[in-house]
Amino acid sequence: MSNALVIVDVQNDFCEGGSLAVGGGASVAAGVSRLLTTEPDRWDHVVATKDYHIDPGAHFGDPPDFVDSWPAHCVVGTPGSEFHPDLATERIEVIFHKGEHAAAYSGFEGHTDQGECLADWLRRHDVDQVEIVGLATDFCVRATALDAAEEGFRTTVRLDLTAAIGPETADEALRAFSDAGITTQGTPVIRAA
Ligand SMILES: [Zn+2]
Repeated sequence: MSNALVIVDVQNDFCEGGSLAVGGGASVAAGVSRLLTTEPDRWDHVVATKDYHIDPGAHFGDPPDFVDSWPAHCVVGTPGSEFHPDLATERIEVIFHKGEHAAAYSGFEGHTDQGECLADWLRRHDVDQVEIVGLATDFCVRATALDAAEEGFRTTVRLDLTAAIGPETADEALRAFSDAGITTQGTPVIRAA
């Protein structure tokens, strides 16, 4: 069996200067890159997800309520949808895009260009263990980790390589991880964008 690092949504719009910035997003990008450099053999596979919106309907709000609707972000073809420049992308084998026409918080809702979903890809590569990092702790990392556990993968969230939108929703995410039997390491970055 093998393991995989799943990098969730480390995109420009979720980092400082982006349209839906998470404080500490850029530091998460740099931290993930540092880890990939210092521990290159730690993972058999490295994959990433991207929030990738064409017309996601009510996921974009004007005005947004910041619960179910958000400012426009990660629109396909815009710089905001690109990976943050501080994220080292050399090791990323495959990208799972999600949310083209509806909200999709979990990377497990994503698919490759060939249409393969994340769970199928991981199983095809004999992955039984995943480590999750990225943005944001309390939304897409949370949903991705809960789905990973639900799909039967042994799941760890490297909280020190995640950043959260707010302290209350971060606490809720931590409780949900614990309830789902997910291992966590460190504490999430929580800071004003
Ligand atoms: Zn989105």
